[in-house]
Amino acid sequence: MTWDFSTEPEFEEKLAWMRTFVREEILPLESLLDELDMDAIDRALAPLKEQVKAQGLWAAHLEPEHGGQGWGQVKLGLMHEILGTCALAPAAFGCAAPDSGNSEILALVGTPEQKERWLKPLLAGEIRSAFSMTEPDSAGSDPTQLVTRAVQDGDEWVINGHKWYSSNASVADFLIVMAVTDPDAASHKRATMFIVPADTPGVHILRDVGSMDDPSARFGRYGNHAEIRYENVRVPADAVLGGVGNAFVIAQYRLGPGRIHHAMRWLGQAQRAFDMLCERATYRYAHGSLLAEKQTIQTWIADSAAEMQAARLMTLHAAWVMDTQGASAARTDIAMIKYFGAKVLHDVIDRALQAHGSLGYSSDLPLEAMYRWARAARIYDGPDEVHRQSVARQLLKGYEAPADKMPTEHVPTRKAAAREKFAGLLD
Ligand SMILES: Cc1cc2nc3c(=O)[nH]c(=O)nc-3n(C[C@H](O)[C@H](O)[C@H](O)COP(=O)(O)OP(=O)(O)OC[C@H]3O[C@@H](n4cnc5c(N)ncnc54)[C@H](O)[C@@H]3O)c2cc1C
Repeated sequence: MTWDFSTEPEFEEKLAWMRTFVREEILPLESLLDELDMDAIDRALAPLKEQVKAQGLWAAHLEPEHGGQGWGQVKLGLMHEILGTCALAPAAFGCAAPDSGNSEILALVGTPEQKERWLKPLLAGEIRSAFSMTEPDSAGSDPTQLVTRAVQDGDEWVINGHKWYSSNASVADFLIVMAVTDPDAASHKRATMFIVPADTPGVHILRDVGSMDDPSARFGRYGNHAEIRYENVRVPADAVLGGVGNAFVIAQYRLGPGRIHHAMRWLGQAQRAFDMLCERATYRYAHGSLLAEKQTIQTWIADSAAEMQAARLMTLHAAWVMDTQGASAARTDIAMIKYFGAKVLHDVIDRALQAHGSLGYSSDLPLEAMYRWARAARIYDGPDEVHRQSVARQLLKGYEAPADKMPTEHVPTRKAAAREKFAGLLD
């Protein structure tokens, strides 16, 4: 089998442009984020978005008929590795979660009217969206447990439920809400997705939840995670997205590519931390030598480089499988990079932070914020344990219990069989 993640030289030129643009035009904004309100951030991003559009790189995750590039996952992955270096970059490129995933499913299963009303302005960067699945009172890691309910009433659906961690919901114009429409159906046919305009009566955005990423989240800021009550929210029949009972299938479309993009963005972040780790090693002097000369620090550098390389190859491989054999062939590879990539991200940042001592722990460096942000990667889009379980189950399908529960490699048994096979030789 041949594995080929190569991309053509013209694409490398695009990547080079992105690297320079992110480093010189977007990254400087990052250090001002706590001084800017949403309006100022939007104003700062607007001219940058125009430059991205002029390069033909806006919303690249979509097919050309929706203004994207139709590049496939390998190229998108390489792009996201660059965008991952700065939290603001995906927004400047029209591919920030959750808008990117939402636009993907609207493009895939939206009706022409839904595309016109929601997808077009979303892609134009005129509106924002949120994805509202997780509930405080049911296990988000097992969405078959959803309790938010949508009941048909004439030509309308009435939604009642309690959600939280709907990222960007407090600044969103519409929400894609997952609700149970048929409690008696098979577990993966029970739920439906609805497009709910954020100003629909009964949509109560209660708060932006404080989190490790932002313990004192200010309401109404991009990147926050909202708690929402849906109270007798009435939407018309044409608010159903992708057909009644299809929420789980559609959610899978959304999550596969999203996990590849996450894993590559994590590598961008990890590389940033790695650069800081190496830089620190070159000048910090303690106990008679530079950190660079200490074996522990050398081990951190060597392990980090190897782990990042492994994560990168695994992710590009998953992207290549997805491009060449389709999403379902890439399922196990994608689950693997989700927990492996999240751990690499955490560990590299942790080492860089440690090597900087109190400076690393302080907010005079971005490492402490990167560390807090990285922790979430082990939870969102499915916790580590669920992905590990899914990988292990898949791999175990290739094994069966040995006859008489005797391990295949049991030496005395193998020896007895070998004696029989080679009896002539032994005589
Ligand atoms: C930063 C961030 C952004 C998010 N954005 C969104 C969003 O935009 N929209 C949205 O709907 N949701 C969002 N979420 C929610 C996220 O999808 C859920 O947190 C996630 O699915 C886990 O669900 P839960 O929090 O209910 O944890 P639970 O399902 O309660 O799981 C808790 C823990 O139980 C353990 N566990 C679960 N299953 C197993 C198992 N099979 N084996 C072993 N252990 C297990 C794991 O340790 C897991 O972490 C976001 C979360 C974060 C942190």
